Amino acid sequence: MNELMTSEKLMHLEEKYGAHNYHPLPVVLAKGEGAQVWDVEGKQYYDFLSAYSAVNQGHCHPRIIKALVDQASKMTLTSRAFYNDSLGVYEKYVTEYFGYEKVLPMNSGAEADETALKLCRKWAYMRKGIAEGQAKIIVCDGNFHGRTITIISMSTDPDSYGGFGPFTPGFVKIPYNDLNALAEALKDPEVAGFLVEPIQGEAGVFVPDEGYLSKAYAMCKEKNVLFIADEVQTGIARTGKLLACDHENVRPDVLILGKALSGGVYPVSAVLADDDIMLCIKPGEHGSTFGGNPVAARVAMEALQVVKDENLAERAEYLGKIFREELRAVKSDMIALVRGKGLLNAVVIRPKNGKEAWDVCLKMKENGVLAKPTHGDIIRFAPPLVITEEQLREAIARIIKSIQFFE
Ligand code: PLP
Repeated sequence: MNELMTSEKLMHLEEKYGAHNYHPLPVVLAKGEGAQVWDVEGKQYYDFLSAYSAVNQGHCHPRIIKALVDQASKMTLTSRAFYNDSLGVYEKYVTEYFGYEKVLPMNSGAEADETALKLCRKWAYMRKGIAEGQAKIIVCDGNFHGRTITIISMSTDPDSYGGFGPFTPGFVKIPYNDLNALAEALKDPEVAGFLVEPIQGEAGVFVPDEGYLSKAYAMCKEKNVLFIADEVQTGIARTGKLLACDHENVRPDVLILGKALSGGVYPVSAVLADDDIMLCIKPGEHGSTFGGNPVAARVAMEALQVVKDENLAERAEYLGKIFREELRAVKSDMIALVRGKGLLNAVVIRPKNGKEAWDVCLKMKENGVLAKPTHGDIIRFAPPLVITEEQLREAIARIIKSIQFFE
């Protein structure tokens, strides 16, 4: 049926029958391969969003798709009421891969964040000796951890929390990248955890000062507070290391992963921790019908193996430097700042003649590059890590042409 549908008709369907909780760029995609996508009319683009860094391994990676299809034709879902022949194999694989004793599998990033919050509170009561119901978790201004009520209770972005109260208590908000504020907040003996994104992705790719994560980690250790890293967007090779925390040799007490854990093929998320923390949650206290299903398990194993086999972290490091160098060299009043790590980058756009980041994104779309503004004036650039250097350079030329159009 889709073959008969134009982009315009398909956008109209979404507008008429779908909730209006997104404001997409006007492009209707029908096919993807590696770093490239095609719209329903057959126009080619480079994808510089990668489904918010889920498609790190590239669209429709043949090995991951094979794992999906093979498993889906045998067994898709057992629930955790029974064992299945994939989950344990995956649990061994993923814990060894990231160096933790246990994993708790979930589906979306938000669910994994929720899981980490519950785990931290349980640990606070069972291990740290905080009085039941009193545990606090420190979070950062500008954070983005998803969309549930508890998660938006941590948010400082009115678009996220406005109109959705009442909110979940128990969070202490401090400025990001501010160790003094962290030291002050850690004085409270009822603090059980510090939840942080190693780079704030949604907020606009805010890279903290070098040493922030390692110092924050040491300060948490001193106060017996769990250092919880949300690497849903920064993890799995995106920033030039397997984890963004690896840049500072920090091993989080609780690690939250999602998105690229499946290469964007299937909703797979996970929380990793050692026994002392993870075993605080007992049978019946947490779970998910789909979490740890056999398809997710097989897909995630293959997606992680691809990251290793194709050296995606090294590629992200190398290609990211080219991206920032090339964009920093552009003479344009509209480029206020270029920042990022690996292939998680942002360009801050200075509006000119009434033209803003959104207009630049529309022009880039016309020229065959897809990206989206975040928080008004910031454009995030995060292509699949399998993009070749030649493709990257071609895409950069298209991006520069689009920005210079407005000069
Ligand atoms: N945590 C971070 C750092 C994210 O960037 C996101 C999504 O962008 C999430 C959590 C939520 O993930 P999901 O949309 O899969 O629930």
